[in-house]
Amino acid sequence: MPHKHTHHDIDAAGDATVKLARELVKIPSITAVNPADKPASACSIDAIADYAAKSGARVERSEYSGGHHKWDYPVENVYLEWTFGSDKSGNDNGQPAKHICYIGHLDVVPVGDEAKWTTKPFDGEVKDGYLYGRGVTDMKGSVAAFITAVEDAMKDLKAQGNVRVSMILTTDEEWAAVNGTRKVLEWLKKEGQAPDAFIVGEPSSQDDLGSHIKIGRRGSLVGTFNVAGVQGHAAYQELFENPNRALALAVSILSSKEWKDGNENFPNTNFETVALKSGDFGASAVIPGKAEALWNIRFTPSQTPDSLEAWIKDALANPPEWAKAHPDADKLKNITVVANKDTASQPYYSQPAGLAKSAQDAVQTVLGTPAKLDGSGGTTDGRFVSNYFPDAEIIELGLPERGGIACKHHKPDDYLAKGGMHQVDERAAVADLVNLRHIFKQTLVNYAAANDDKPAAEKGADTHANAKQRHSAPRHGN
Ligand SMILES: [Zn+2]
Repeated sequence: MPHKHTHHDIDAAGDATVKLARELVKIPSITAVNPADKPASACSIDAIADYAAKSGARVERSEYSGGHHKWDYPVENVYLEWTFGSDKSGNDNGQPAKHICYIGHLDVVPVGDEAKWTTKPFDGEVKDGYLYGRGVTDMKGSVAAFITAVEDAMKDLKAQGNVRVSMILTTDEEWAAVNGTRKVLEWLKKEGQAPDAFIVGEPSSQDDLGSHIKIGRRGSLVGTFNVAGVQGHAAYQELFENPNRALALAVSILSSKEWKDGNENFPNTNFETVALKSGDFGASAVIPGKAEALWNIRFTPSQTPDSLEAWIKDALANPPEWAKAHPDADKLKNITVVANKDTASQPYYSQPAGLAKSAQDAVQTVLGTPAKLDGSGGTTDGRFVSNYFPDAEIIELGLPERGGIACKHHKPDDYLAKGGMHQVDERAAVADLVNLRHIFKQTLVNYAAANDDKPAAEKGADTHANAKQRHSAPRHGN
């Protein structure tokens, strides 16, 4: 029987998830790129570490720095771990049979135009069934929901035995992500641990809690086109070289490509010109001396940064027929292409298995609605997992991106203007916070109890064969 909570039957002030989420929202933990923001980062980690310690977690704090010529600022992280019934371990190394790890972040983006906020962005005000505050949806509310879900699930998990639940929390997801999740995953691997499954707690559905569970994300490659021209009088175009001609044709050629590499879970690859720069809007008679475009490609696991760079260079060197017939076609050779491959975000796709099923069943139990698996949306720290734990299953499940301000039946007039993650008036429905906790709890219980995916005895007896078998499962969509 679904037991969905509505706005009316929750005591927001007394609810453990809402209380912890509010406590976290009150800490202005903007990503500490600037040293002045470092104390707030540390404070957010203190708050969650203290909370976890009280519920019996092993707490491992870490601070990493360096690792990049520019983004080397120090980052506070924490690893939390609860082990249930390790004495019943079926594994020869004494590890529990199943390890499920939650990945999240406590840093937030800046508040934007504070005058446009309905509440103070770091007050954590509860109003009309919503908790307001920067970072509540992305993603302090989700962190609070998960840790309170672990507390709720303890009795069941102890009875089940053979399960380990952990959390990796960083304070640098919203910026460079150099010294955050990636470094903790590396440490975890060195510790000899290999979680079987990861839940990335980022927002995963647009409006309705649990409508979608992510099983992958596309990658992101950013780059530029630079064209050198010859500045001069616009009436004498034959004497000079207008760089806008080559640039305009180039972005048209690349934008005209229709990728068909998606599937029912993944949108196709797309090329977007995101910024154009050239000329002077105060000088209408001047051909500019240079022009520049900034582009971003969101790509499926069928592409790589190398293959995309090669595609761009080839499309400009051997343009389609319609572009070959264009009078500016011979100017395409003047374009310098730079693809920022070193900062590209890799895509990932995780074949749905026991965890995806456990989470889908949990959503059905708690909300009475089905959850669709998909791979749309922006990049997350989920992309780092497969580098360290290629056999682990990954899902992403969290609050609605737009703060639950719209549902199936109702969309407010200011739907796009405010209320969502990274926007002014970021908020989360109190009912969604509480229901997310129930969904996480049920997911943990389902996953711990499931024995079709990985029987504990078999895992202990033949870990290698099991890993090999799972490795041979298809890892990419087509
Ligand atoms: Zn986030």
